[in-house]
Formats: sequence, structure tokens, C-alpha cells
Amino acid sequence: MSDVRNVIIIGSGPAGYTAALYTARASLKPLVFEGAVTAGGALMNTTDVENFPGFRDGIMGPDLMDNMRAQAERFGAELVPDDVVAVDLTGEIKTVTDTAGTVHRAKAVIVTTGSQHRKLGLPNEDALSGRGVSWCATCDGFFFKDQDIAVIGGGDTAMEEATFLSRFAKSVTVVHRRDTLRASKAMQERAFADPKISFIWDSEVAEIQGDQKLAALKLRNLKTGETSDLPVTGLFIAIGHDPRTELFKGQLDLDDEGYLKVASPSTRTNLTGVFGAGDVVDHTYRQAITAAGTGCSAALDAERFLAALA
Ligand code: FAD
Repeated sequence: MSDVRNVIIIGSGPAGYTAALYTARASLKPLVFEGAVTAGGALMNTTDVENFPGFRDGIMGPDLMDNMRAQAERFGAELVPDDVVAVDLTGEIKTVTDTAGTVHRAKAVIVTTGSQHRKLGLPNEDALSGRGVSWCATCDGFFFKDQDIAVIGGGDTAMEEATFLSRFAKSVTVVHRRDTLRASKAMQERAFADPKISFIWDSEVAEIQGDQKLAALKLRNLKTGETSDLPVTGLFIAIGHDPRTELFKGQLDLDDEGYLKVASPSTRTNLTGVFGAGDVVDHTYRQAITAAGTGCSAALDAERFLAALA
């Protein structure tokens, strides 16, 4: 059994590394579980990031995350590229178990495990991510000025993305599996009224086509089985996100969609000494800068919690 740490951070995106930087600079010697496969978080899978303040000419996602990682490490954060597979967060001393079965103990835990965007599950989807295929209009819409774009999905997010993208795009085609939308009436009306947005109903994407860049989609009509080609250079997949909260079920309060609940504007969860930040909490903004911002808040909340124990 290890010594009792001040703080363990689970997750290594902008929220986790920012929490690590702040707690390290406060001399709390944080132990950070970065994840076995995707250390660095969601931005490791993208190319240019143009909206993270401080980088006038933009920065590649993996470079931004390497910088954050190195900055946290410089101040003494201990970084472990491993998954946490079990937690007990209920007591005064929290325990966190890694894949080797080692149990780590801490007085405070910060949860920054992010959320996973749902994928279509098609060949080429990952290869063309950042090369025409995207999951975030706010992040990438600007790159698609005067281009033909498809948005997949029928909920509020899909309508919001389509309406936002129509500001830049030549055309936006919404492809939906059903013949009605799930989105709220107001969102639907706004999309229907937009002259740049058109709809293809009862259809799914059968193929994502393109070599180095997205060139077209092959669509399949789910009622007739017929296929058709849709030439587009942008594809925005808006079929939902799954917050990574499986580990915490039964201990931390989650909302109906599985996101971690915090006593906003603080990052306190229902359990004393446990804090949550980033996309595992946030289904509204989902940006690197907001994740980093709440990661900072979680670190300060943890710092104050630990100071009150002393
Ligand atoms: P994440 O970045 O998702 O990181 C969570 C980390 O936790 C992951 O590394 C994961 O492996 C780890 N983890 C999960 N479970 C465990 C566990 N059990 N044990 C250990 N580790 C675990 N935002 C922008 O602002 N600008 C952009 O240009 C932009 N582009 C994007 C492009 C793409 C393709 C995607 C997917 C997202 C983009 N975003 C962008 C959104 C941005 O990446 C997210 O909002 C941000 O990364 C969320 O940060 P986070 O720290 O909350 O979580």
C-alpha cells in the first residue's frame, strides 16, 4: 500500500494537466493517471487548434498537449501513462487502483476523464479526422469557409452545428436516420428556415470517401436500401457524447446523461474531497480552454480543501 498522497488526478486532457500544473505549483506533488491509450486527451486526435489563447498562429493539438504535460512535469507533477481501473472515493482517504492492481491513496481526487464523442464506426473515419471529418463545429467550422458540408444527427447538437456552420459554408446537408428530428422545436424551426441547410431523411452514411482529405460520402436510404453519393469536403458527426464516468457509478452523483454533477460554480462533487472538471462535467461548452479553466478551478478547490484539513 502506498503512502497517502495529497491529490490524485484521473485523466490527462487540458483539464487534468491544468489541475496538475496548479496543484504541482502549490507543492501538493500530484499523481496524475494519464490513461493507457490516449494520454493527452481528445486533442491528441486533431491537427490545428486555432482557438486556444496564447498561440497567435495556432498550434497542433498534440504539440499543445505536450506543452501542457511538460509544464506540469516541470513543477513536480508525477505523470503515469496508465488507466485507473477501480476507485473508492467514499472515505476520508480515497483509493485508486491502477492496471497492475496497485492501490494508491490520497486525501483528494480530481476527476478529469473527459467524454468520448460517438463515432459512426466506419473505415476512414479516424484516418480523415482533422482532414475533413470533425466532431466540433465551434472548433473547426472556420476551416470550412465556402465548402459543402454534411452534418450527421437529428438532435439539438446537430441542429446547433448545422446552423452555426451555415455562417461559413456554401451548403450544409443534414443527414438523419429518421424522418423527424429529435431536436427541440425552436432549434428545428431555425434550421428549417435557413436557406443554406437542406435535409436528407431516413439515411445513414455507408462510406466516408477520400484519400488524404474527405471528398464525398456514400449514403444509404434505410427504407429503400438505395445508395447515393454526396460530394462534401466537411463532415460533422453530431450523434452524441459518452462521458467517461463508468468507474464512478454508485459513488459520485451523475446526471441523466451520465455526466458528473458538481456544485457549480465550484467543482465539488457529492463526496467530500472529490472534484470534477472538464468535459466529464460539461455538456455545454466542450472546449479545451473551458476544460483547462475548470481544471484550474478544481485544483484551487482541492488546494483549499487540503489547507482546511491541515
Ligand atoms: P479529454 O481531453 O477528453 O481528456 C480526458 C483524458 O482522461 C483522456 O486522456 C483519457 O484517456 C483519460 N482517462 C479517461 N478515463 C481514464 C481512466 N480511467 N484512467 C486514466 N485516465 C483516463 N477544443 C478546442 O477548444 N479547440 C479545438 O480546436 C478542438 N478540436 C477538437 C478536435 C477533436 C477531434 C476533438 C475530439 C475535440 C476537439 N476539441 C477542441 C474539444 C477538446 O478537445 C475537449 O473539449 C477537451 O479535450 C476536453 O478536455 P478534458 O481534459 O475534459 O478531457
